[in-house]
Amino acid sequence: MTYVEKVLKQLKERNPGEKEFHQAATEILLTLEPVFDKHPEYEKAALLERFVEPERVILFRVPWIDDNGNVHVNKGYRVQFNSAIGPYKGGLRFHPSVNLSVIKFLGLEQILKNSLTGQPIGGGKGGSDFDPKGKSDREIMAFCQSFMTELYRHIGPDTDVPAGDIGVGGREIGYLFGQYKRIHDEHTGVLTGRGLSYGGSLIRKEATGYGLVYITEEAMRLRGDSFEGKTVIISGSGNVAIYACEKAQSLGAKVVAMYDSDGYIYDKNGIQLEVVRKIKEEERGRIKEYAARVPGSVYTPGCKGIWTIPCDVALPCATQNEIDAKDAESLVKNGVKYVAEGANMPSTLEAIDTFKRAGIIFLPAKAANAGGVATSALEMAQSSGRLFWSSAEVDQKLKDIMIGIYHNIDAAAKKYGFDGDYVMGANIAGFEKVADAMMAQGIV
Ligand code: NDP
Repeated sequence: MTYVEKVLKQLKERNPGEKEFHQAATEILLTLEPVFDKHPEYEKAALLERFVEPERVILFRVPWIDDNGNVHVNKGYRVQFNSAIGPYKGGLRFHPSVNLSVIKFLGLEQILKNSLTGQPIGGGKGGSDFDPKGKSDREIMAFCQSFMTELYRHIGPDTDVPAGDIGVGGREIGYLFGQYKRIHDEHTGVLTGRGLSYGGSLIRKEATGYGLVYITEEAMRLRGDSFEGKTVIISGSGNVAIYACEKAQSLGAKVVAMYDSDGYIYDKNGIQLEVVRKIKEEERGRIKEYAARVPGSVYTPGCKGIWTIPCDVALPCATQNEIDAKDAESLVKNGVKYVAEGANMPSTLEAIDTFKRAGIIFLPAKAANAGGVATSALEMAQSSGRLFWSSAEVDQKLKDIMIGIYHNIDAAAKKYGFDGDYVMGANIAGFEKVADAMMAQGIV
């Protein structure tokens, strides 16, 4: 049994039932074998055992009162996974599916993603099993204030800087920030994704979706290809999906399908993004409405059918494990050429294998969706420097970072003899920097 296999086995035994965490760890660790072959000193320093164990896990109760006076209790989480290269950084997710396993898988991924951005940020993640859907603004505020009343003592601009994720957008960040400031009496860059009127950065909202398209565009450009005239499928209709759609359309692509957790819309003429935005961002409604408003479009209940629509490019931007082996086979059979992950771990391990075997250009989440956290780091830089950069300036930096990530993962894959395998490339390139920083800092 190799060192990596031994640590993976231990991880599964010591963290029973954490299936998402096991999945992410398996995907990452098995690709790191060549690094450990090259660096036997890592095993002696128990580097991998330390890497997979969070530095700190914070679990807390979040009591809040609904509009009818009923008391509810949710679970709150913050996993401060690794601070070797900078303060913990990673989003907060509010969704009923949140549990420790989900937060740990996201945190582990985040360490390598943040490393790939080239910015000085460590890895963390947090959230709650609270469901914001259908709640009034007052209920959301009550929940966020209660959540922050515990979280505030664990975070800080040089310690841990949370941001948004599923179910946590501008509204939630505003309420969380307001409560932090009230308790801590400090107006600092303790959260990113803040509104522009209180310390946020231009382009942060757009960054994950734009970044996803920028890195895919670079992969295309190097193959003499582009988004022009491509048929694209985007799953989800939240923050990442909307801005991926906007950027892909601006580069001449035709986005024909999107979904929310109830079902998907297909519009052969190309999705009218302003209609999606009105429904999802302004009205906080369901995507089903689109079909009622746009003649010629079709709504189908259930999400899975979206992957049977023929496309050149698939951009999964909703949630984990939304593409399984069967979905991947449909995509391949229908001629997909590029798959780039906007969501975290949207493809199962079997789906990734299917894409690899078929020779599809596959850009994994930790590289492809790193634009959001990279721009969060730019927000942190602006906050501490009391600066405010223009849209064009931030957008250019984002684009440069995404192109840099592509070349970095491509070079790492080549260096270890896995040309074109960007899963290997992303894991290795992200890990090398973290490993180097951990070794330099001794056994901590
Ligand atoms: P949002 O909450 O804005 O949107 C999530 C979208 O995904 C919604 O359309 C939602 O549908 C859909 N969705 C959620 N769960 C499911 C499910 N189980 N099945 C089908 N659809 C589902 O989140 P974001 O856009 O911010 O995040 C999307 C993904 O991108 C996540 O994996 C996140 O971790 C990742 N990501 C986000 C970043 C960011 O900057 N926001 C940065 C990097 C990664 P519904 O409206 O019905 O809930």
